[in-house]
Amino acid sequence: MNFTVEWADRIKTLPPYLFAKLDQMKDEIRRKGIDIIDLGVGDPDMPTPSHIIKKMQQEVENPIHHKYPSYVGMLKFRESVANFYRKRFNVKLDPETEIISLIGSKEGIAHFPLAFINPGDYAIVTEPGYPVYAISTRFAGGEVYFAPLLEKNNFLPDLSSIPEDIAKKAKVFFVNYPNNPTGAIANKDFFEQLIDFAKRYNIIIAHDAAYTELYMDDEKPLSFLEIDGAMEVGIEFHSLSKTYNMTGWRIGWACGNKDIVQALGKIKTNIDSGVFQAIQEAAIEALDSSQDCVDELRNIYRKRRDVLISGLKEIGLDVNAPKATFYVWIKVPEGYTSQSFSELLLTKAGIVTTPGNGFGPSGEGYIRIALTVNEERLKEAVERIKTHVKL
Ligand SMILES: *Cc1c(COP(=O)(O)O)cnc(C)c1O
Repeated sequence: MNFTVEWADRIKTLPPYLFAKLDQMKDEIRRKGIDIIDLGVGDPDMPTPSHIIKKMQQEVENPIHHKYPSYVGMLKFRESVANFYRKRFNVKLDPETEIISLIGSKEGIAHFPLAFINPGDYAIVTEPGYPVYAISTRFAGGEVYFAPLLEKNNFLPDLSSIPEDIAKKAKVFFVNYPNNPTGAIANKDFFEQLIDFAKRYNIIIAHDAAYTELYMDDEKPLSFLEIDGAMEVGIEFHSLSKTYNMTGWRIGWACGNKDIVQALGKIKTNIDSGVFQAIQEAAIEALDSSQDCVDELRNIYRKRRDVLISGLKEIGLDVNAPKATFYVWIKVPEGYTSQSFSELLLTKAGIVTTPGNGFGPSGEGYIRIALTVNEERLKEAVERIKTHVKL
């Protein structure tokens, strides 16, 4: 008997894993006993604030939570989200119809195209970017048009360069500001143009807002939904993961136009069974209680950013300080590619970074550094670069 396991085309044709070679090099260096500073990971290094953990500890004991939760999330969780949007963005949301809980925003983003993409339809996706938008579109049988994010355009897509025939075939446009990996934020003017574009071609705007609270200067990032007309055309994905160091807890939400939110809900009722209620209670605690912990987090990332940027400038690297997110997007020096510069930093200085081309072709010529190690380690990284990397 010869049983063969054959993958479906949708996973056979996934793009190759671009970081495989670097991972292998990292393992080799680690095996030699060299102390590696890992600036590659997009996962906060600090624990969830203790008041949120305490709430979870209490709630987990309550048998009322030991059952299937509701698909859309507890009403009180959705009310907390609505309050957060009102206080932070002055956006009014109906918790009954315009908000749905997610098992982390990645879950919602990954399922979203199933609600709106028929085979052959297009999604417009910005690149460099989070890979989930494009892959989930393809999983749904759709085609992807990549809109490049270029430094000369402040890492905003140039809407006028999107071909008319693509725009006509597009159903969804994924954008993400503050942006991973470039650290760029979007202004009101861009969002207004995006809404015009959406209305002209009847395209749903799906805005990934995971980093709106991780701003480092006075300029607070916008919610897409605070722009006039956004509620007609869009949905926003948000998450507690980055704001409260809760990546492992798996809770987020989507909010916006009720028909769009309801369609995502319809997909989800056929796939998952909601978020454990004790986690929702902890999330409510996070959103409703004092936001001092988020202030502290912003201060920590700002200090880390400043240490890194001043160090890199000293050694002659051309770096723009990100206004938000915990990523620094760095142009590699003349004569290097993303890959060769990442390899240089790893082999000469024991520093792991992410080659920018892994996020899309327009990421070529950049590396991404995540500010997810403490100041001491960042200073050490800067010293190592100064000593061992000749530019
Ligand atoms: C981290 C991140 C998310 C959040 O993912 P969760 O599933 O909510 O943990 C979403 N989008 C981007 C671009 C991210 O970097």
